[in-house]
Amino acid sequence: MANNNARTRYAPSPTGFMHVGNLRTALYEYLVAKSQGGKFILRIEDTDRERLVEGAVDVIYNTLKLAGLKHDEGPDIGGDFGPYVQSERKDMYLPYAEQLIKEGKAYRCFCSKERLEQIQSETVGGGYDRHCRDLPQEEIDRLLAEGVPYVIRQKMPIEGSTTFVDAVYGEITVDNTELQDQILIKTDGYPTYNFANVIDDHTMGINYVVRGCEYLSSTPKYNLLYEAFGWEIPTYIHLPLIMGKDEDGNVSKLSKRHGATGFYDLIDEGYLPEAIINYIALLGWCPKDNQEIFTLEELEKEFDIKGISKSPSVFDYDKLSWFNGEYIKAMTPEQFTEVAMPYYKQVFGDKEMTFEKFAEILQKRTTQLTQIPEMLDFFAELPEYGTELFVNKKSKTNLENAPALLREAYERLKAMPEWTSTAIHDCLINMAVEKELKNGTVMWPVRIAAAGKTVTPGGAVEILDILGREESLNRLEKGLEKF
Ligand code: GLU
Repeated sequence: MANNNARTRYAPSPTGFMHVGNLRTALYEYLVAKSQGGKFILRIEDTDRERLVEGAVDVIYNTLKLAGLKHDEGPDIGGDFGPYVQSERKDMYLPYAEQLIKEGKAYRCFCSKERLEQIQSETVGGGYDRHCRDLPQEEIDRLLAEGVPYVIRQKMPIEGSTTFVDAVYGEITVDNTELQDQILIKTDGYPTYNFANVIDDHTMGINYVVRGCEYLSSTPKYNLLYEAFGWEIPTYIHLPLIMGKDEDGNVSKLSKRHGATGFYDLIDEGYLPEAIINYIALLGWCPKDNQEIFTLEELEKEFDIKGISKSPSVFDYDKLSWFNGEYIKAMTPEQFTEVAMPYYKQVFGDKEMTFEKFAEILQKRTTQLTQIPEMLDFFAELPEYGTELFVNKKSKTNLENAPALLREAYERLKAMPEWTSTAIHDCLINMAVEKELKNGTVMWPVRIAAAGKTVTPGGAVEILDILGREESLNRLEKGLEKF
């Protein structure tokens, strides 16, 4: 049932790198909220000071912007539940932990690091032995008066089990014996991640928590906190793993050895943000029908939590290329010229070209923008090539007839009063008709002389049109000189 009070949060840690898994989490958080008319909140989780990277917060903002995921509340735009940066909330957590101590649900643990290390090595599987769980009050007072540092731990149930329902994975039960008395507040007075995220989610009114399935095993601990406070538990939506295809045909967790795994790395490899988002939307979610191409707006309408799958999804770079190709084809020539321009500059530098003409030959053939320089290199400079390129069985051209064909085409083109694509086309087709030849027999030698390679985007007519009269005739002359 749609819940237009849905509130989801994307809570990245600013590490400077946006893995496709993080991006998918952000997208699904957004879609869970927007598909129900709810709110999508950005919270920066920067309490792990050791992992902080300069400029990393900007990476988060820029990614969300490029991906089109507009948040409704966040550090940059504010909202009623701020602050939205965890480090600015650091004084909020201790009072909650102290409340649990008062209610007998948490306790101060004065154990030294040395003692903890020792019991870790002695107990199978490690873990805390709950030494301070039931210290007499006089002992606690004495240790406090002496200023012995302490952490605050939650009293976890000692027997029984904890069950919760995940919207994707269903009912999950863990034995309470597996749950340690978790630390809520560290000796420096700051919260652990496990504690902070529960307090934050509750105080920000988050009612849907979407995150990777690596958090499934921590969820019972979060729930025992919600229960200790008597707060309503959010709906949990854990997302399946993203795998990559290994060379041996198996799959393993997506990592750099499979290919680019960062959002910006994919963009650098010539994928469009819209295509990446569209593809990622389908990594773990299945629409009702077979539609594959979705705008973000369409996703907002169609997305349904019920369509999320728990089986791992495989990141398929070929499939992403297919999506990208479809997005490229659907662009206007102007849009294409804009995204292709950096790649044109790689080939032509500052040289002025009629760039708009490239759209027509490139759009239907490009699945990654990075393919563009290689497709266009011959326009910038005629490659070295040998006469064997003129031999082509299908076009019925060989070393005997190619020179005469090329010569005649050259003369006819040279005599044209104006150099337009229609004129070039008519000139070469007329030659084929008059000489009772296949079109290909005329086009092949002309294209080889114009491009110096056999595989080109566009045919002879488009290439000559883009090269212009002078350069075209030069190249045809060079071709003739080879015989
Ligand atoms: N800051 C955590 C991360 O980046 C967020 C996890 C969560 O969604 O609770 O992995």
